[in-house]
Amino acid sequence: MAAARRDTTASLFAEPAHPAGPALVAEGPGTVSEPAPIPVEVWESELARSLGRPVRVRYGRSRTQPVVARDPTPRELRATPTLRGGRVVRLHTLFALAPTRVRAALGRWLCVGRRARRASCELDEWLEAALAALPASGERPTRLRPRGAHHDLAPLTSALVADCFPDAFGRELPTPGVTWGRRARSTSRGRLVLGSFQPRTRLIRIHPVLDQEAVPRWFVGAVLHHELLHAILPSERRGAGRRHHTAEFRRRERAYVDHARALTWEAAHVGALVRSARTGRPLGHRVLARTRRERARRREE
Ligand SMILES: [Zn+2]
Repeated sequence: MAAARRDTTASLFAEPAHPAGPALVAEGPGTVSEPAPIPVEVWESELARSLGRPVRVRYGRSRTQPVVARDPTPRELRATPTLRGGRVVRLHTLFALAPTRVRAALGRWLCVGRRARRASCELDEWLEAALAALPASGERPTRLRPRGAHHDLAPLTSALVADCFPDAFGRELPTPGVTWGRRARSTSRGRLVLGSFQPRTRLIRIHPVLDQEAVPRWFVGAVLHHELLHAILPSERRGAGRRHHTAEFRRRERAYVDHARALTWEAAHVGALVRSARTGRPLGHRVLARTRRERARRREE
């Protein structure tokens, strides 16, 4: 009989650095043709073979501990005496669709632990991607509000996608949802986040301070372009964290037609934008007059 081992808890991945936002839509099963889920009995016999002892498998939903292996409790042993000397393994339901190589890696990892470095990496990578694709737990779907008082994000997004990313989105990589964020008067210590992209829900939020006449439409477009790039380009691992603005990201951002003047406009107006966001009052007359003049000039051209 195998000696009782101490609990092994897999903490195979770190949650992405992005704050959890509301889910756009819950992913329903069967929207994509999926392989049949693996029954726990199949897992049990596979893992029993890898570990050389009886294994009981349960599916669970913990994202922070997607794999937990422990010794059976006395109660479990009374109910199932054949489990003596075995292990009880709880797997995130994602494992019901795990590919063969991941199944093999899990068996090896449970058997050898962290010394199974390749198996650990393989599990880590697969889990991270699979968990990131799940809608965040406990989230209510967000109603998208792309239409603002002055700028409508929907046509702006469609035009950007058609011009800059015609082949980027499709079945594999859905076009992100775009919405104005909620009007909140506070900003964190003067730092203003003009746009954000939440990878799990594929939702782009634009700060409502940009929804005013004094903000040029092309500036809103440049912020949207930045967030669309996030929706296309994966972030890179960097130590324990991730790098979102990769070299490739910066290169493609610089190539955007309005990038340079958007930077200039932002630098000139960031103080006014922060004040406007904080007070809820629109940008001053001078900014508005300048934006109107520029708009009129463009129309004449
Ligand atoms: Zn960014």
